[in-house]
Amino acid sequence: MLQNGSSTRETAAAPTKAARGAIAHVIGAGIAGTWQALALAKAGRRVTVFERGDVSMTQATSHFAGGMLAPWCEGESSEPVITRLGARSLDLWREELPDTPFNGSLVVAHPRDRADFERFARLSGGHKRLSGREIAKLEPILEGRFQDALFFKDEGHVEPRRVLPKLRARLEALGIEIRFHNEHEIGDANHLVVDCRGIAARDVAPDLRGVKGEMIIVETDEIALSRPVRLLHPRWPLYIIPREDNIFMIGATSIESEDRGVSVRSALELLSAAYAVHPAFGEARIVEIGAGLRPAFPDNLPRIDIKGQTITVNGLYRHGFLLAPALAELTAAYVQRGEVDNQVMRCL
Ligand SMILES: Cc1cc2nc3c(=O)[nH]c(=O)nc-3n(C[C@H](O)[C@H](O)[C@H](O)COP(=O)(O)OP(=O)(O)OC[C@H]3O[C@@H](n4cnc5c(N)ncnc54)[C@H](O)[C@@H]3O)c2cc1C
Repeated sequence: MLQNGSSTRETAAAPTKAARGAIAHVIGAGIAGTWQALALAKAGRRVTVFERGDVSMTQATSHFAGGMLAPWCEGESSEPVITRLGARSLDLWREELPDTPFNGSLVVAHPRDRADFERFARLSGGHKRLSGREIAKLEPILEGRFQDALFFKDEGHVEPRRVLPKLRARLEALGIEIRFHNEHEIGDANHLVVDCRGIAARDVAPDLRGVKGEMIIVETDEIALSRPVRLLHPRWPLYIIPREDNIFMIGATSIESEDRGVSVRSALELLSAAYAVHPAFGEARIVEIGAGLRPAFPDNLPRIDIKGQTITVNGLYRHGFLLAPALAELTAAYVQRGEVDNQVMRCL
C-alpha cells in the first residue's frame, strides 16, 4: 500500500474477449451496484441489475447510511487511498447529480475532548479553523455553543433514500433494467458479472465481516442545519446530518457485531450527542431507530477482485457513498482498457 495515497496503474492482460462483450450483469442495487451499472452502461455495456430485495431497499446497508461525502474528514482515521478515491468521487457526484449539496462539514468538540479535536485537526487536511462567530454565520442555530470548529468546505452529503432512486432513474433513462425480487447466483458465466452483494458476498469473500452502525432519525422544526456536524467523541465519530423536511439523521456507532439490533446504550449515546450539539434536539420526535452492517475486509479498505469474467466490488465499509463512483470508474477502466489500479484491484 502506498502511504501517500497515489496509485500505481498498469495494464493487465487485456480482459478476455467475452469480458469485453456487450452484456454485463450487476448483482446488488446498493450504492456500489448502482454506480457500477451506471459506469458500465456509459462505457457501452448492455447492463442488467439484479436485486434480491424490493424497491424500498430496506435490506441494504445503503438504506441506513449517513451519505456523507467527506474524504478529508475521513482522512483522520483512514488510509490515504480513501481520500484519493473519495476526492475523485466528489467530481463524479457533481457530474452525475449537479444538485448534490456541497456545503462542507463542520467538526466540533466539547472542551473536555480538546485533545481529540487537536488530533483530528492534525491528522486531517483540507479544513479551516473557524471562531465561534464564524460558526454562527454558517449555522446560526449553533451561535454560542462552540468556541471553534474545523470547516471542511469542499465536502458534501447526499440523502441515501432519495439519491438511490435518482440514480436508478438515470439507469432507466440509459435503458438499464433493474430486476427486483431477483436473487442471483454467482456462478460461471460467459459474460461479465459484477458482484456488489455487500455483506451477502461471503461465499466468495470469506474474510468479509459486518461492522454494525446504529443510527437514529429524528424530526424537529426547531433546528436548521445546512451541513453535517460531527461531534468528536471518545468512542465513535458522532454526527448529525440534515435531511429535507426537518429530518435529521444522528449516527453512527461502529461495533464489531453482526447483530442488527440497536442497544439502549447506543441510543442513549447518539441522542445525548445530538442534545449536546443543541438542546432543542431534546424536543425532537424520534422517527426511526435502525442499524446496518458495513461490509468490511480485515484492513477496512475496499477491494475490486477480478477472477475471469467475475468482478467483485466490496469492502466499502464506512465509505460506500464516498467511494462508489470512483470504484465504478476503475472497474469500467479495467473492463474497457485493462487498466489495473494496484491499490484496490487484485487479479486472482
Ligand atoms: C449507520 C451507517 C452510516 C453510514 N454512513 C456513511 C456515510 O456517511 N458515508 C458513506 O460513504 N458511507 C456510509 N456508510 C457505509 C455505507 O452505507 C456502505 O459502505 C454501503 O452501503 C455499502 O454498499 P454496498 O452496495 O456494498 O452494499 P448494500 O447497500 O448492502 O447493497 C448490497 C445489495 O445486494 C443485494 N444482494 C445481496 N445478495 C444478492 C443476490 N444474491 N442477488 C441479488 N441481490 C443481492 C442486497 O439485497 C443489497 O441490496 C454508513 C453505513 C452505516 C451502517
